[in-house]
Amino acid sequence: MKDLNLIKGIDISDIREDLICYSYDASYAQGVIPELVAWPKNSDEISRIVKWATNKELKIVPRGAGTGMSGGAVPVNSRSIVISLERMTEVIDINTKNFTTTVQPGVINGELQKELLIYGLFYPPDPASMDYCTIGGNVATNAGGPRAIKYGVTRNYVMELEIVLPNGSIVNFGGKTFKRVVGYELKELFIGSEGTLGIISRITLRVLPEPEEVITLLISFKDLENAGKFIPKIIGSGITPRTLEFLDKTCLQIIEENKELGLNLDIDALLLVELDGELTSIKRQAEKIVDIARKFKGETQIATDYYSRENLWQARRSISPCILKMKNKEKINVDIAVPIDKLADALTKLKELSLNSGIPIVSFGHAGDGNIHVNILVNKEDEEQRKKGFDLLKKIFELTVSLEGAISGEHGIGITKKPYIDIQLSQKNIDLMRAIKKVFDPKEVMNPGKIF
Ligand SMILES: Cc1cc2nc3c(=O)[nH]c(=O)nc-3n(C[C@H](O)[C@H](O)[C@H](O)COP(=O)(O)OP(=O)(O)OC[C@H]3O[C@@H](n4cnc5c(N)ncnc54)[C@H](O)[C@@H]3O)c2cc1C
Repeated sequence: MKDLNLIKGIDISDIREDLICYSYDASYAQGVIPELVAWPKNSDEISRIVKWATNKELKIVPRGAGTGMSGGAVPVNSRSIVISLERMTEVIDINTKNFTTTVQPGVINGELQKELLIYGLFYPPDPASMDYCTIGGNVATNAGGPRAIKYGVTRNYVMELEIVLPNGSIVNFGGKTFKRVVGYELKELFIGSEGTLGIISRITLRVLPEPEEVITLLISFKDLENAGKFIPKIIGSGITPRTLEFLDKTCLQIIEENKELGLNLDIDALLLVELDGELTSIKRQAEKIVDIARKFKGETQIATDYYSRENLWQARRSISPCILKMKNKEKINVDIAVPIDKLADALTKLKELSLNSGIPIVSFGHAGDGNIHVNILVNKEDEEQRKKGFDLLKKIFELTVSLEGAISGEHGIGITKKPYIDIQLSQKNIDLMRAIKKVFDPKEVMNPGKIF
């Protein structure tokens, strides 16, 4: 055992069973088993571990709940220590007058949502993994969710961050005012930095008053292209739904096999549209949406009560786990984003790519903001098909960039998309990012091997 005396009092393990649990995340990324895993309880403990680890020339891998889809929390160097923030779960403050909350990084998103509701407050970012993922992980990946179309992503709610830098010092960026122009806003660099610049140890978020009412509409389309054309029409009509989720036919079949919700399988696409606000106003908006849908041959059902709404959302949130349950299948998943006027084009071309390659693709996602989750399904044991799957992945990224889209809308680059980053970014761009990393992390100890 290494000399752990310097970090006495901190929960730390070198037991193999523990280490194995921290060698993977929710992605298909293959990493290595780290040397140690530590569970700090406060910023001071993080700082002590970071100083100790740097001294021992260990690499540091910050980790929230490990629900990441890009391998960001997976160690790639066996001389690593995983710093798991999962025991830092304190909601430090809920300020009902300044509309802010301050939390430790290990607070679970869904738990925070529930606690805020007691005060009539609302934290909009709602990744489908919200029952498990941490706020620290959400900030590190700039997580989005179905409500992003109306309310934006995590970045739009982060006001202040406390960071433990790779040299162990603790610094604060941002502040508690809604407006702030005081030099470079360095907190922005940490949002979406995937643990490569420092460890997020405390977060102050902006929150909103809870919306008065919610209406959910389920719209079925027999034709995929019509669904793609309908989406920009809704947004162009002046209505901003709080969600506009999209599920394709294969997706519906997979959910129905697992959940038996009685979904109509005789359609090509299903949209889940949700409105929130004052009741008479959202009722009027719902009627307008039904009219527009009719013009695109879409049929609408309205989920009026809380339980039927929750049922639909449970189905939507269970898609990823349902796909994972498919026998012998490995899913190579990506979350591309395209400008919304290119969505119909993207969906049609994805269907063509699947037909031409003979490899099934399941698509679902946040259609309202052009963010599509594309799952390429390959046979785990068939090496040749896996290779074909990864060739298809490259083609999907090339298609995305040709449509002026982004190769990740919310999951980040991590290690799974690292080989493809130059499809999106110029060398000059990558060099600038590397230079920024060097300023914060000159010895390259913080989550090395990720992004670039
Ligand atoms: C079923 C399912 C559905 C999902 N749906 C969505 C969705 O709708 N929207 C979405 O955006 N994502 C979604 N995800 C992906 C994932 O949940 C998010 O990326 C989430 O933000 C990761 O949080 P985590 O706590 O699990 O972080 P981890 O997976 O542990 O880590 C993710 C990255 O953040 C870094 N990190 C974590 N905590 C810290 C910290 N405190 N300081 C510095 N770096 C840190 C890690 O090093 C890693 O690079 C989904 C995942 C699953 C499994």
